[in-house]
Amino acid sequence: MDIEESIKLYQRALELIPGGVNSPVRAFKSVGGNPRFIRKGLGSKIYDVDLNEYIDFIGSWGPHIFGHKPDFIIQAIKEALQNGTSFGAPTEAEVKIAELICELVPSIKMVRLVNSGTEATMSAIRLARGFTKKDKIIKFEGCYHGHSDSFLIKAGSGALTFGIPTSPGVTAGTAADTLTAKFNDIQSVKELIQNNKGQIAAIIIEPVAGNMGVIAGKPDFLKSLREICSEESIVLIFDEVMTGFRLAKGGAQEIYGIEPDLTTLGKIIGGGMPVGAFGGKREIMSLLAPSGPVYQAGTLSGNPIAVSAGLASLEYIKNNPRIYNELEIKSKNFELKIREILNKLGKNLALNRVGSMLCLFFCENEVNSFDDALKSDTQKFSIFFNHLLNNGIYLPPSQFEAIFISTSHSEDELIYTAEKIEEALKLIY
Ligand SMILES: *Cc1c(COP(=O)(O)O)cnc(C)c1O
Repeated sequence: MDIEESIKLYQRALELIPGGVNSPVRAFKSVGGNPRFIRKGLGSKIYDVDLNEYIDFIGSWGPHIFGHKPDFIIQAIKEALQNGTSFGAPTEAEVKIAELICELVPSIKMVRLVNSGTEATMSAIRLARGFTKKDKIIKFEGCYHGHSDSFLIKAGSGALTFGIPTSPGVTAGTAADTLTAKFNDIQSVKELIQNNKGQIAAIIIEPVAGNMGVIAGKPDFLKSLREICSEESIVLIFDEVMTGFRLAKGGAQEIYGIEPDLTTLGKIIGGGMPVGAFGGKREIMSLLAPSGPVYQAGTLSGNPIAVSAGLASLEYIKNNPRIYNELEIKSKNFELKIREILNKLGKNLALNRVGSMLCLFFCENEVNSFDDALKSDTQKFSIFFNHLLNNGIYLPPSQFEAIFISTSHSEDELIYTAEKIEEALKLIY
């Protein structure tokens, strides 16, 4: 595979951009090799600057549930562009998308738009602190909530890939207010609450964790979290930046039948443009400025071009709820194919899937927690990744990320991918 142009661009980028990229995992550090510079995408495919074609399983890290460049999103952006790019004043599209978010995710009674998932989570904990007048938060080991200081404690995604449990630059004071519990372990939560009685403002969790591979929250565990938060007057925040509009039209909370107090959203909500959101109970959300004292703002928040793409996505989802059934069937068949291969090879690797999110771990133990995920052999993942990449299959370049299947992936592409997975596993074992 000729990647000359990508190599040249990477060399130029390394001089000017730290690590050559604007978000760490893109650099291929943990799998080796030269990152591909992408020129364009269409449906399930992306094309690099050397015009190599790849079946894309990253989907811009989650947003592209319909694949690349769907007509209805491109059309909506074009129409919005006719009127200008930004006004810093309210627009009709913001009201429409707020109505749609509240309709699709019933626990959300009021919503505020921001520009990224990071902004959504950092604003949500400020609001929870303002509401409860308490300081500490509990997060879970291996969960990723964006890169704001409070969350860079035992975080997933890039922070996990590179083994930076707590980033330099996060103050001891900030770190002290973030307590970490173990995913799927309710006892670890109870102990923290007991030892910090009356001091916990919020518990934030990815109900289905997608930043330490893919790990589903156990229904009983999430139910207990809901009960404990209600008993102790702790704000329960579901971080659905990845799972929102991905697992169901109402996100993971719809599947589990649990209503959090606040929900954070991102990725799919922007249709590939920078949009995030947080919302939830009216009594909490009303505390936000300007209706309340908790400050939160953004020059480009609710940007009309970005919102047009998000609105087109959510309208499509509302009008085509069957896509979640279709994604489930397609993803399940793909999972079964991989299981067959594993059986054939006599390898009992952990394969976790929830809806169209999937992860193959290179370890034979069950993976239900961060500690379990860490048992994966990342050297083996690296061989696996590179074999697929060289065969035109673009997986996330890290063991600890989710593979996403979109509505545009064809049966033939998934069969081809399974064949290449079999080849890669035979190389490894
Ligand atoms: C991606 C992600 C974030 C951060 O969103 P950004 O838009 O990258 O800032 C937060 N939480 C979860 C669960 C995510 O998957």
